[in-house]
Amino acid sequence: MVEPDQLPKPRCKSCGSAVVLRDAYACWDENQQEWTLHSCYDDFRCENCDAQSKHVDWLV
Ligand SMILES: [Zn+2]
Repeated sequence: MVEPDQLPKPRCKSCGSAVVLRDAYACWDENQQEWTLHSCYDDFRCENCDAQSKHVDWLV
């Protein structure tokens, strides 16, 4: 069985951090009574070094 930490994840191209955020829209879910993810866009931002990019590295 493959563990989650053995799977590739997005990495910041500048500092290598795996804490990468992505531009997205949230929409209101009346049933859940909370904001839920609607769609993702192409821009990424690193939470660690604040670098912005349209590309990330996918590494284990
Ligand atoms: Zn970074």
